[in-house]
Amino acid sequence: MSKELKNGLPPTPPTNFLRGIIDADIAAGTYANRQDAQGESLPQVVTRFPPEPNGYLHIGHAKSICLNFGLARDYGGRCHLRFDDTNPEKEDQEYVDTIIDSVKWLGFDWHHDGHPHLYYASNYFDFMYAGAQALIRAGHAYVDEQNAERMRETRGTLTEPGIDSPWRNRPAEESLRLFDEMRAGTHADGTLILRAKISMASPNMNLRDPAIYRIRHATHHNTGDKWCVYPMYSFAHPIEDALENISHSICTLEFEDQRPLYDWVLERLAEAGLLQPPAPRQYEFARLNLTYIVTSKRKLKQLVDEKIVDGWDDPRMPTLVGLRRRGYTPEAIRLMCERTGASKHNSWIDYSVLEGALRDDLDPKAARAVAVLNPLKLIIDNFPENADATETACSAPVYPMGHPEHDSAVRRFPISKELWIEREDFMEVPSKGYFRLFPGNRVRLRYGYVVECTGCDKDEQGNITAVHCTYFPDSKSGTPGSATYKVKGNLHWVSAVHALQAEVRLYERLFIDPHPDAGGKDFKAALNPDSRQVLQAYLEPTLQDARPGDLFQFERHGYFVADQLDSTADKLVFNRAVTLKDSWGK
Ligand code: ATP
Ligand code: MG
Repeated sequence: MSKELKNGLPPTPPTNFLRGIIDADIAAGTYANRQDAQGESLPQVVTRFPPEPNGYLHIGHAKSICLNFGLARDYGGRCHLRFDDTNPEKEDQEYVDTIIDSVKWLGFDWHHDGHPHLYYASNYFDFMYAGAQALIRAGHAYVDEQNAERMRETRGTLTEPGIDSPWRNRPAEESLRLFDEMRAGTHADGTLILRAKISMASPNMNLRDPAIYRIRHATHHNTGDKWCVYPMYSFAHPIEDALENISHSICTLEFEDQRPLYDWVLERLAEAGLLQPPAPRQYEFARLNLTYIVTSKRKLKQLVDEKIVDGWDDPRMPTLVGLRRRGYTPEAIRLMCERTGASKHNSWIDYSVLEGALRDDLDPKAARAVAVLNPLKLIIDNFPENADATETACSAPVYPMGHPEHDSAVRRFPISKELWIEREDFMEVPSKGYFRLFPGNRVRLRYGYVVECTGCDKDEQGNITAVHCTYFPDSKSGTPGSATYKVKGNLHWVSAVHALQAEVRLYERLFIDPHPDAGGKDFKAALNPDSRQVLQAYLEPTLQDARPGDLFQFERHGYFVADQLDSTADKLVFNRAVTLKDSWGK
């Protein structure tokens, strides 16, 4: 059996039903021996990740990216990055750019055999328009003059059929002429609409003559003012897939009811001779729902616009840019996606699964360092005043046991008469079971000496201002004498004169409710007022060289990253990515 992973997760990823479907298609040769329009042979597995460029990608999108690119990779196929940009109003180049960056950052590539497979749905508008005209000609679509409200009223219900539009049976020539007028800009938004002619009595509401083209006088980020009619998602998406020779079109469960329409569009366009078989097929999986976050782009945008967070890349945001800034690695996110598999049933994944994946990724590889976050002075009264810092320096491995550089990479940092320790590592009157510093007790200063606490100083209010101790010169770690001292406590520290000052930002969950927006709840009511704490900390001097984005384990505290935006050589800023253990809410 393979190694058991930490955090109680199974050693092998849960089954992924999509693999079963692909295996069956390969066995049946469904997508074998295909060629593209240029006569190049096509792989049997062509998937796509189709974001709408109307916001930043979030952890839910990462799931879709990992699935689509992962399946293509595993089957020697290819995955396209496609901007599903059929909604002119909300889309923007800013979003296109960040999506490209995030997909790359996650470690995926849309090149295959040297060709880039990055596409824009808006580049297919000509084809879509022609496709819509073909549907009209074949009697499968008509221009309706009912307004949106009237269309809603006549749609029927789950138990009652809808009512046919009075324009449903107008001659094709009339619809064609009106459709051209729609395109020419003769009509205002919402006055005319092109509908598929399927059935107003279908038990599937999506088939009750769905709208497929609408008027929108709006400038598009890619096509500018060329168009004032835009296709609806449910008409555009199957065409995009077909034109790109997608084999397996993977989407989330909400689209299950749209599948008959997806197939209908492709069948009608194939009948019209506009598309060649084999058609792509749509498959649905459960979206990733993580507790303690929201993943609707609209809600995330609200957090940004209302300045509840500092931006899309605020380290508390579940966006990929936010997670990255927080210290998440692409490896950790991919690991989480793999561990949670692909399922046919919606469920909630605990946020700790994401955190666990980050710990598991960083534990074996992150460089170790020391930081004192809540400092209290420790004075070693018998330590030589002017000791040579290089001579007395302590050393510790940079990397953890098991890391290939564990033995060779060593960090050296000075010790001196005055140190910073954590305030919580001293108690004047120890509670039961406390084995850190208290008067009369001995502890080891990690990588340094054993010290015995002799007392503390207080100010007039009785606050402890410094702790005193004496050290045992023959107890230094790594020397033969050290073994004769047996102590329970092992405290981290930094030399006060040598320490670096840094800003350390500790983050908690952004929401206190595990399901902040479930059932239409006001997610802003569940905001955690203490989601960020900013500390002035003291760091071991070797961290002077930390570059933005560098990750460390601060011993006993967790994993930290030098902030990508704010950390400079003059002012170091670290974000806590995750604590060492899952202690949330405990
Ligand atoms: P939102 O509702 O926040 O706008 P969306 O689903 O509309 O998100 P798209 O840009 O259309 O965002 O999504 C691109 C792809 O990512 C789609 O195929 C979508 O199904 C998938 N996706 C989005 N959210 C999730 C999620 N939580 N889990 C898995 N896949 C997701
Ligand atoms: Mg969408």
